[in-house]
Amino acid sequence: MLSDKIDGTVMDSAGSNLRGIANFAVGYNNIDLQAAKHRGIQVGNTPGVLTNATADIAVGLILAAGRCFGPAIANVQRFEWRNWEPLMFLGQEFEGKTLGIVGMGRIGHAVAKRMHGGWGMRIVYTARDPKPEAESSFQAIRLELDELLAQSDVVSLHCPLTDQTRNLIGARELGLMKPKAVLVNTARGEVVDQTALADALSQRRIFAAGLDVTTPEPIDRTDRLRSESNCLILPHIGSATEDARNQMAMMAANNLVAAMDGKLMPFGVTK
Ligand code: NAP
Repeated sequence: MLSDKIDGTVMDSAGSNLRGIANFAVGYNNIDLQAAKHRGIQVGNTPGVLTNATADIAVGLILAAGRCFGPAIANVQRFEWRNWEPLMFLGQEFEGKTLGIVGMGRIGHAVAKRMHGGWGMRIVYTARDPKPEAESSFQAIRLELDELLAQSDVVSLHCPLTDQTRNLIGARELGLMKPKAVLVNTARGEVVDQTALADALSQRRIFAAGLDVTTPEPIDRTDRLRSESNCLILPHIGSATEDARNQMAMMAANNLVAAMDGKLMPFGVTK
């Protein structure tokens, strides 16, 4: 599972028969690839089959955080709904606005496709290499991160967690965002500096955040983000559909069977 940290010590404790590690996830930041390579152990993941499921959760978080679903649902559940009010739970609209995708890979592309096709959003993105398909499909424009943050009405994170992306969104970056902007993270919790995000949300320096991932998971009981009304948090359910999880299970099993047979994993992670 993505919640299992698999380092060299764990690999060694499995003994010399360990041939393969199949992550039940596409992100593999929980596995020490160098340690695996050093020991001749294959590592596999589950790319592609959870792209649509995760993109749907990102779109859901954009709408839900931008339209105040969290406090609105809490209002009904606490029996506080008294009347229709002109200024109650005012949110943001997305039609024709700018969506910044940080990490235009499989999931980032699928989110851009949905929000460009459905909401007519202008798409800007970051990635280490240009993404010609996104540029031709959605007229997406590649920007430096700072420029993307300054231009975007919604920022959605889809990069892997690496040494380069840990704490990518901190106080300085949040300070570059528009006051009405919505930040969505379905990547990994560690991509965002959570203390800085709690500050930005409580001081209303950005409008809202929608998070499917946190640090740690589950999030601490005392984490300030839990009590910010403009922070909507899901318990890491990006790939939680029957279709995605069934296919992920098959891919992980096929990876293990291949490794046991001394073959290359069909969905191996290369680095
Ligand atoms: P992917 O296809 O590999 O896409 C990741 C993209 O990020 C790549 O296009 C890569 O492009 C870009 N990238 C890498 N380093 C970057 C950096 N420093 N700055 C900006 N962009 C960078 O992976 P995916 O299948 O879309 O999945 C993305 C991530 O989502 C996974 O790694 C995982 O952590 C997370 N995820 C979460 C859930 C969930 O349940 N919430 C489900 C699935 C996946 P370049 O190589 O050109 O930089």
